[in-house]
Amino acid sequence: MSESSPSLSGPDLTQGIPFNSLADGAMLLGHARGEPVLVVRRGEEAFAIGAVCSHYSGPLNEGLVVGDTVRCPWHHACFSLRTGQPVRPPALNPVACWVVERRGDVLLVAGKRPALRAPAAGAEIGTIAIVGAGAAGEVAAETLRREGYRGAITLIGAEPSGPVDRPNLSKDYLAGNAPEEWIPLRDADFYLTHEIELITGAEVAAIPQGERRVVLADGRKVEWDRLLLATGADPVHLDIPGAERILYLRSLGDSRAIIRAATGAKRAVVIGASFIGLEVAASLRTRGLEVQVVAPEQRPLERVMGNEVGDFVRSLHEEHGVAFHLGTRPRAVERDGVVLESGETLPADLVVAGVGVRPATALAEQAGLALDRGVVVDEFLETSRPGIFAAGDIARWPDRHTGERIRVEHWVVAERQAQVAARNMLGRQERFEAVPFFWSQHYDVTIAYVGHAAAWDQADVHGSLAGRDATVAYRRAGKVLAVATVFRDGVSLAAEAAMERGDSQGLERLLKA
Ligand code: FAD
Repeated sequence: MSESSPSLSGPDLTQGIPFNSLADGAMLLGHARGEPVLVVRRGEEAFAIGAVCSHYSGPLNEGLVVGDTVRCPWHHACFSLRTGQPVRPPALNPVACWVVERRGDVLLVAGKRPALRAPAAGAEIGTIAIVGAGAAGEVAAETLRREGYRGAITLIGAEPSGPVDRPNLSKDYLAGNAPEEWIPLRDADFYLTHEIELITGAEVAAIPQGERRVVLADGRKVEWDRLLLATGADPVHLDIPGAERILYLRSLGDSRAIIRAATGAKRAVVIGASFIGLEVAASLRTRGLEVQVVAPEQRPLERVMGNEVGDFVRSLHEEHGVAFHLGTRPRAVERDGVVLESGETLPADLVVAGVGVRPATALAEQAGLALDRGVVVDEFLETSRPGIFAAGDIARWPDRHTGERIRVEHWVVAERQAQVAARNMLGRQERFEAVPFFWSQHYDVTIAYVGHAAAWDQADVHGSLAGRDATVAYRRAGKVLAVATVFRDGVSLAAEAAMERGDSQGLERLLKA
């Protein structure tokens, strides 16, 4: 992940500050021993932790304090103020935790606290196997160790690499702005140190019914007492003449293949105005290619984000030189370009499609698990077969906030589900109740989205999308189901927290503010 030397501002906290200069609930950015430190007061208590998010270096001092945690404004990572430990993904690493001393009316930050060791847990469980080494698989394995589980963990993934920072594959990495070392979520040493057996390039072919083992395509077998299925999703492939020329993007290998094809190329056609299609368009523009986008809808992202956001996203891409061909489909892909329904040919050296994904449920189906456009799980993320859990893009869960069974394709949701599933594999009975959150990045603009509005009848824009300062509330029958923001990270965090509390009045106040 990105690392830069922190710039320091605010007071030197080792010198002390008046305790009462900090209002109850307030955050203060300062520094100690050359590191940025965030001080938070809650009642008569005060906490001090590292001020820079361990995920992508977001400024925690611009985040939100919820109970004894602080949440990062960029991707909603959450840290304990008491320990600095990541409480919720996407952060995987802790931030420093500092000792706070009170001498009379003065509060000062002393040395760093040593990391806490988790008490042993789940001793009676022999082996845990995880199928799918992606977002959910990685976080499940890490959570098991963080919770003190000392038994065997086998993490099996079909990709040749270990778990990677998949969202970056369509963004800075594809644009050529992220170094290789940002992409693996962990290095090989991590798995050795934490005694996680990582098997890569290995597809699990079967989970025989009535047996507690998985069978790999090469015949190897892995026993389990608890199993997590986290097989993610596969891109939908187009079935048109010349389809073999189309590139898709899911894996690191796919991203590298697009980079290879883009190197020396001049013109690209992107099929699909989806989040991934548009992120690919932005990245290829950053690489200097001419980019045309073809999609059947009238506006990019209109079904998910509505007309206003769709128009905003379109104009954002047009400002960067992307040309759109909307309300049409590709009829064929030829050597020199993409033929549209109208017969027009868009010249292309490179064609990438982002036309949606399907949950990778073949294995779950073979295992006889209940399916419903994904793998059906209960509120504890357990499938219809006791001992087998599912998380991430494949899981359809009963969502407390909408009262519906939903399935989403969001990085943070996959990780948060994995965290809860891992704890439940150890015998906790923890409900998965997180409010869904995702982000999408187009050039220098990030759209953050909290909640879930599969269908909505009203999208109200507060502020100005063109002015890049806006909140959009998606309502059904008057009720706010989801909130999207542009350059209003604080609102996104506060909306998420209000939704968690079920505080619809607080949400309405937030939208009016
Ligand atoms: P994955 O991360 O896909 O991992 C599943 C793994 O299981 C894969 O490695 C797969 O090879 C493996 N597997 C499948 N079947 C088997 C098998 N039978 N045996 C062994 N291994 C198997 N979400 C956001 O919220 N924000 C973003 O900005 C964003 N950007 C994205 C950009 C790209 C390019 C892509 C592809 C996705 C993006 N997403 C984003 C979505 C996000 O990455 C997914 O929601 C998330 O990765 C889902 O996690 P998962 O663990 O369920 O699946």
